Amino acid sequence: MPETVTHCPLCGNQQNVIFDQREFHGYRVENRLCSHCGLVYQSPRMTGPELDEFYQVRYREVYQGSQEPSKKDLSVQEARAEMLVKLFKEVDITAVNRCLDIGSSSGLLIEKMQEAYRCQVVGIEPGDGYRIFAERKGLKIYQDLDEVEESEEPVFDLISMIHVLEHLPDPLNFLLRLKRKLLTPNGRLIIEVPNLYAHDCFEIAHLISFSRQTLAQMVKKAGFRTEFLITHGQPRSQLIPLYISLIASPADNLAEQDKFESENAVRLKRRTGMIHRKIIERLFPQQAWLLEYRG
Ligand SMILES: [Zn+2]
Repeated sequence: MPETVTHCPLCGNQQNVIFDQREFHGYRVENRLCSHCGLVYQSPRMTGPELDEFYQVRYREVYQGSQEPSKKDLSVQEARAEMLVKLFKEVDITAVNRCLDIGSSSGLLIEKMQEAYRCQVVGIEPGDGYRIFAERKGLKIYQDLDEVEESEEPVFDLISMIHVLEHLPDPLNFLLRLKRKLLTPNGRLIIEVPNLYAHDCFEIAHLISFSRQTLAQMVKKAGFRTEFLITHGQPRSQLIPLYISLIASPADNLAEQDKFESENAVRLKRRTGMIHRKIIERLFPQQAWLLEYRG
């Protein structure tokens, strides 16, 4: 049975209003808008055990019809991994010793990291099909964060979560846990999520739909300082800002971290963003959705 989310996963406030209701692959998906901070989150949603079961087996079946990596998904992942490694170089991440990719999927990002930085790499992947696929390539992949914490793994100086944070029931505590236990004091956290103001977003597996503002606030509340934040469409679109990428590091000044800035005019921004997307799709169909990565 689904559970109702009583407190906003970002600010903890209990007041919210309906934001969106739709069907997604036979699931009823309802998203709410926090009246206090402007976060959009799914409620009711699957419970913890339901989510565990969902990711272990059903997630890939619902999304791509099979548990095993599909050709199209692998080509998106490869292009995304290349784009991310290029971005790390551009923002002057010159050295990485140990990299942890959470939601490592087929392992393509950690392979590219290994190649680019000659670093040690570890992944976390709950989906059986993808984890086994990556392990067969000789990569070290854990099933979840508990397993990494229980292992003898030393800490990491780069932790990436590419299209992961929006799937977590309690992203704030997850980030706090990473900061406390797994990231070096000078380490970097890399996050990419769908952009509420351009991406469809409201899928059964997306428990939270972030904007730049709410993502930055979430990271800040967990004690990180954002160094870099962009919206972009890569690798799927040249023009539609489907995704938000963020690079952050643990903050020194924690008092600074307490200042909370709410997101405003969320409905208007969503509506405008989706209209903008439609216009781009009409005017520039070739650049709007790049042929090889079309959904
Ligand atoms: Zn809130």
